[in-house]
Amino acid sequence: MHSDTMFIAIAGNPNAGKTTAFNKYTGARQHVGNYPGITVEKKEGQTMLHGKQISLIDLPGTYSLTAYSLEEVVARKVLAEEKPGAVLNVLNAGVLERNLYLTVQLLEMGMPVAIALNMMDEARNQGLQINAVRLAELIGVPVVSTVARTGEGLETALEAAVTLAMQPTRPAPLVISYGQDVDEALLAMTPIIEEHQFLTTHYPARWIALKYLEHDEDILRQGLAANKEISDLLSAKVSTCAKHLEATLRTYPEAVIADYRYGYIASLLRQGVIADTRNQQNRIAYSDKMDRVLTHQIFGPLLMLGVLYAMYFITFKLGEYPAEWLGVAFEWLRGVADAALPEGPFKSLLLSGIIDGVGGVLGFVPLIMIMFLLIAMLEDSGYMARVAYMMDRVFRFFGLHGASVMPFIISGGIAGGCAVPGIMAARTLRSPRKRLATILTAPFMTCGAKLPVFLLFVGIFFEKNQTLVMFMLSLTGWAVALLTARLLRSSLIKGEATPFVMELPPYRLPTLSGVVIHTWERIWEYMRKAGTVILAISVLLWAGMTYPGISDEAAATFTSKRTAIEATMPEGDARKDALFAVSAEEASAALRASAAGRIGTFLEPITAPAGFDWKTNIALIAGIAAKEVVISTLGTAYSLGEVDPEENTTLADRIRNDSNWTKANAVALLLFTLLYSPCLVTLVVIKQETGSWRWSAFSFFFNLGLAFLVAVAANQILLLAAR
Ligand code: GDP
Ligand code: MG
Repeated sequence: MHSDTMFIAIAGNPNAGKTTAFNKYTGARQHVGNYPGITVEKKEGQTMLHGKQISLIDLPGTYSLTAYSLEEVVARKVLAEEKPGAVLNVLNAGVLERNLYLTVQLLEMGMPVAIALNMMDEARNQGLQINAVRLAELIGVPVVSTVARTGEGLETALEAAVTLAMQPTRPAPLVISYGQDVDEALLAMTPIIEEHQFLTTHYPARWIALKYLEHDEDILRQGLAANKEISDLLSAKVSTCAKHLEATLRTYPEAVIADYRYGYIASLLRQGVIADTRNQQNRIAYSDKMDRVLTHQIFGPLLMLGVLYAMYFITFKLGEYPAEWLGVAFEWLRGVADAALPEGPFKSLLLSGIIDGVGGVLGFVPLIMIMFLLIAMLEDSGYMARVAYMMDRVFRFFGLHGASVMPFIISGGIAGGCAVPGIMAARTLRSPRKRLATILTAPFMTCGAKLPVFLLFVGIFFEKNQTLVMFMLSLTGWAVALLTARLLRSSLIKGEATPFVMELPPYRLPTLSGVVIHTWERIWEYMRKAGTVILAISVLLWAGMTYPGISDEAAATFTSKRTAIEATMPEGDARKDALFAVSAEEASAALRASAAGRIGTFLEPITAPAGFDWKTNIALIAGIAAKEVVISTLGTAYSLGEVDPEENTTLADRIRNDSNWTKANAVALLLFTLLYSPCLVTLVVIKQETGSWRWSAFSFFFNLGLAFLVAVAANQILLLAAR
């Protein structure tokens, strides 16, 4: 694919300036997509250098090349399988030690590497003196000082990479000593790998041995598939080495390997690369001073609550305006279509199925946009890392990460959020398993669509202590989310004690342009994917609630009733009301006769222990489309036609006067609504974010089952207590 043009990959830690450099090189000649099946962004582009065409790829930011995260797996796959002619490794000069960790691994993989020593402007401002020539000498690769923001040094850096790519042979992989025990194991394993050409088309032999020692799941899987016998032999050698390390040093291979890598880097830097370490310390001291306040034992969490609350407030309050304009636009569109089309199934499909369905999807766009803008700002400034750091101790107990708090809050942790942006916010988690656990538990929060349902029933049955009950419902959501996370992390998504140290990057002022571009790309992706699937499912749901409908004779009866009213009553409000009542009755009869209505009736014996009758069943089924629909469907089922969620006094009166409704089944309904299947858009977003419908299906069935058990328990206990 890249045979005729030169192919160069840009690699580096997150926030080192890769994308800034990439954009400077390629300008508008770039293409942004996704790696197949996952949410990692793939950026490719073209540039010219001295009349030569060069394709560039902006790899995902990684700290390492061990397969701990999706980004790392992806970056490594591109390097190994697409074999770029050279790697342009962008480093943040301000945190050289950490950045070189990746460089060392690139060199161990045998990649031709040119280093762009970026952020030199910041380094200079801080009085940090880095000797690029000395670094190049010691590490044996070209090093060019750059400032990606202004473009300084970028051309020279690319030239260095191009020169490397034109060499006829690739460099020999870097060999580091990992101490006696690990080195011995490497020496025993490498010849076996070479002899059987075990995975060696993509990776150097010693590197494969290292990955076996590091327990790299991705390589282990590839190895098992390629040659089980050899793979088992290597694993046996690894466990001998691991046992020995455990017995003699109370440690394990991964830790030893990381230690020696850092040791190698530290010794590099000590040999005259960083001339003045005093200022480096100043910079750290400056961030440390801020941290003394921002992560203070008492002020820290308080400030964090404030920031999270502000973030939540801005997302939903500010998001209200554009969401409202969108709503008005759709209302207008609906009106136009309503007036232009003749009555009939096509009109109903267009209005209720398509416009409402797609409108539902687009309605989220403003929220997602604002949220991503804010998150990007918190991340770039370095504050997000502090939040994760402070929350981590609590969340770790439940198998989650400190960074899970943001998705929970956005999903409605404070009440009134939305799981769609909440689940998308889980992208900030680097650990795939913790991210998955966060995604699967965020829908238990009290999202804005559950609120009207809560308000209605709490208003009817708990008039005296509404606030308390609402608060308890929110708390229940948190408790169930955390306990479920704990359960999942010790069963279905077990494992992974990533030896990755959480670190606090220095504070920095975020810039706008990058944030804006990123936000737009994510929204576009959301609209494209969610739009198509949701459209299809909305149409199905619409059909389920419309067909087969009432018989022609029944319809004729309603028509004759209306004719009778028109003939006997004088024009006026009374006549209007009477006509409306007939139409509502017809709508209710049609709903009961529809597929959804039949299912609701069919389910009655099963849902009886929770206290749900057929009307509640339909409402809950319809609520899968969107939870607020529970109320409008109940309204229809109770012959009330359209019910505005804010103005449901009539429905409330109906329920209050219905002797079938007791406190017990109201509580069961409240808990069920809180916990049962995530709504349609959320299910689609779960698929989008986890890459698999399997997790959407899991979420659907697990939450449904759990909600049912809880609802039955609540109903039965309250019935007993009332006796
Ligand atoms: P990536 O994660 O490696 O792609 O990093 P980005 O290119 O998104 O850059 C992260 C942040 O650093 C952005 O706010 C950039 O504007 C900023 N940045 C990039 N290069 C430089 C530089 O050389 N000097 C300074 N001061 N800031 C830079
Ligand atoms: Mg980037």
